[in-house]
Amino acid sequence: MEINEIHCQSILTRTSGYLKEVCSHSLNPYVGCGFGRSSCGEGCYVRFNPWLTKGRVWGGFVDVKVNAAEAYLRTCAAERAWARKRKKVFAIFLSSSADPWQPLESRFRATRGVLAAMRESPPDKLILQTHTARVRDDLPLIKTLSGLCELRVHVSIEGDIERLPGLPPPPCSLDERIGVLEQFSAAGIKTVACLSPLYPLREPAAFFQRLARTGIAAAVIDHFVEGDGTADGSRTLKTDLPRAMEAVCPGSTLLSYREEMICLARKSLPVGVSWRGFAGIYST
Ligand code: SF4
Repeated sequence: MEINEIHCQSILTRTSGYLKEVCSHSLNPYVGCGFGRSSCGEGCYVRFNPWLTKGRVWGGFVDVKVNAAEAYLRTCAAERAWARKRKKVFAIFLSSSADPWQPLESRFRATRGVLAAMRESPPDKLILQTHTARVRDDLPLIKTLSGLCELRVHVSIEGDIERLPGLPPPPCSLDERIGVLEQFSAAGIKTVACLSPLYPLREPAAFFQRLARTGIAAAVIDHFVEGDGTADGSRTLKTDLPRAMEAVCPGSTLLSYREEMICLARKSLPVGVSWRGFAGIYST
């Protein structure tokens, strides 16, 4: 793993594309992701972003923004004003292109530093997105922030199969991630399961019931078709993910599979679809 400690000029990025509908800014304490060689790294849309990877192999590098907290405090007032001027809520997605609780977080605590800085100057809204139970390390801080701003924790749980055939293991076991949903919901924190991208489900009805029992506010269902930054899923079609999905459930690579799963899920809990789900728009 190539690790670079870098100093950033700014850390709040004004959003574009689908994220523009979700929040005003994204915030990434890291560039590159230590989970890049896990199963989620296979279909991870960030790996196709040459501006971020700069030709480096996805999962083989991480740039750590060691001054992330200081950069946040230095720029948040101006970015809040920018959002207000456009009649937007100052809403931050943390993170859009790397997991905030990836393994190096236990060494550098760049994410924790930013969350601590937000206690001094919170955004209006904060969405925390992760694939790992390591988010538990910051539960007390997140709980405090949930009293200072509108906060949601999104936990990525693509499906009910621990490991798809031919793909590496996930960053964190299914049971551990479901445990996070339970623990955070019980702590009074708005928590959402993100089936993104949706993997084939072995027992969909039972899985959605299990998710509902954790106490989560909703589930987000997002297929790689329409969900990977291309209209037809062409980015993901270049990877091993579709083959693994078809091996488990023929037809699961089609958008019609998403529609089928949405209907089933809504029998158990509120569901948000694709970017609307990430924006917190759900229905039953
Ligand atoms: S944890 Fe997120 S950012 Fe990291 S490789 Fe997986 S999908 Fe990509």
